[in-house]
Amino acid sequence: MKIVKFGLMQRLCWPHRPHRPAIALRTGALMALALCATGLKAAAITVQAEGYAYMNGIVVEPTQDTGGGKDVTGTDPGDWLSYAAVNLPCAGTYAFKARVASKNGGGTFNFEKAGGGTTYAQVKVPRTGGKQAWKTIVQDVTLGAGDQAFGVAVTQGGWSLNWFRLVPKCSSAETAQTAAKNMHQGFNLGNMFDVTQNPPNFQAAKAKIDAYYAQGFRNVRIPITWTEVTNGSMLVNNALVGDVNRSHPRLGEIKQTVDYALSLSGMYVVINAHHESALKDNNRASVLERLWADIADIFKDRGQHLIFEILNEPHLSNGSAMPPANLRNMTALAYAKIRAVSPQRIVVIGGNQWFGAGEMAQTWPDLNGVGNGNDAYLMAEFHHYNPWSFNGDNQGDYADNWTDADVYNPMDTMLGWANSTGRGMPVYIGEWGTGWGSRYQVMQCNNIRLWYQKLDHQYASVKGMPTAVWDDGGWFKIFDHGSNSFANNLYQCISGSCAWDGGERFNSACY
Ligand code: CA
Repeated sequence: MKIVKFGLMQRLCWPHRPHRPAIALRTGALMALALCATGLKAAAITVQAEGYAYMNGIVVEPTQDTGGGKDVTGTDPGDWLSYAAVNLPCAGTYAFKARVASKNGGGTFNFEKAGGGTTYAQVKVPRTGGKQAWKTIVQDVTLGAGDQAFGVAVTQGGWSLNWFRLVPKCSSAETAQTAAKNMHQGFNLGNMFDVTQNPPNFQAAKAKIDAYYAQGFRNVRIPITWTEVTNGSMLVNNALVGDVNRSHPRLGEIKQTVDYALSLSGMYVVINAHHESALKDNNRASVLERLWADIADIFKDRGQHLIFEILNEPHLSNGSAMPPANLRNMTALAYAKIRAVSPQRIVVIGGNQWFGAGEMAQTWPDLNGVGNGNDAYLMAEFHHYNPWSFNGDNQGDYADNWTDADVYNPMDTMLGWANSTGRGMPVYIGEWGTGWGSRYQVMQCNNIRLWYQKLDHQYASVKGMPTAVWDDGGWFKIFDHGSNSFANNLYQCISGSCAWDGGERFNSACY
């Protein structure tokens, strides 16, 4: 939403073991890692024992195990191996499987975090009856999601290792498609944490969330401006860096708001980077990258119902569209940071100006940089203000004789992209509404009511698109922050039916 004025919007053979280095590299030749990054289904991750990044005291030999290749042997107490990071799809329980051989048994090792310090499992190697008599042993481990680097530390030797495998037992996350089906209709906490207008605090947000939730609304979009001053300060320490000030009181209010909304059964929460004008104007890709690295970390423990929209309406200050290549570049950087922490967090992308439906194809001719079409946790967003145009401080002619095509054409344009380039990506209408308050004190125009009645109930929901009405408490007011109650019956219109003033579409209140 544009700003509306107040009132009226990441093998070396070490001779000694001074310490085990934690690995953050992925080097091709040494790494024989079967990675599960952003696949549609959580698959087992297999690491070849001989594919270590660093080790101490270990010997590599050809293996006679099924599948061939090599194994590691010569294990003595104090020897160790460490591996490059693998990307785990979910936090929780994994079956740790190790392919071992030991003539006499009695061996032990720790499966641990690379570099040591954290032991995930103390593993006993049984007698297998021969140096090349292989057996798979298994035990459960609890691991975090995202990039994780592991190590094997020998506590008792006399055994060999061919490979180890991590089989996810943690529940598979809800995909973007599934989320879209469950988000239903929603609303924006507009002009609360994005600009200075409504109280930027939890109590004000809670009242609005409660009111909408009681009416069956199941997603709340929270526009947040990070790199610009609102209410006297920025949420980042340095707008040229994008580092989030984690002790900022307003961030505390935002976290409380997010957590409260997530505590409500079936509720989804979308947070974004909203205005960020200088970032957009100056193409500060590294700022957006750092910003999302920080946001992803701050919210990494939240469930699947928290959704990240990378950059709202990426226009320039002069109103022109952001160059698509610039937007794609900074989006890809932010996306990579999010995925390193949360492989299955739903991430939302949109067009390069006002999130218009027609901007999607020009902005995203492919999905390079955002999962290459293999990420089931991506959602597309557009904003729907058609037919109401913005003309300075006046939001238009509320007696506009719009037709249903004005309502469904932008949706079909988005579906055209989503079902081709987007590979079935679900579509979210993250903003829609009319700024009736630019002209009226009270909303009584039936023509506006009809548009609210049709957009979600008659079209978006039928086309499988969740929505979030723009409600800023000002021009687009539905919920009134002053009285903590609904200011008009548009919330009922969104659900498909609401009382009209008189029976005519174009009643006198529309003129
Ligand atoms: Ca092997």
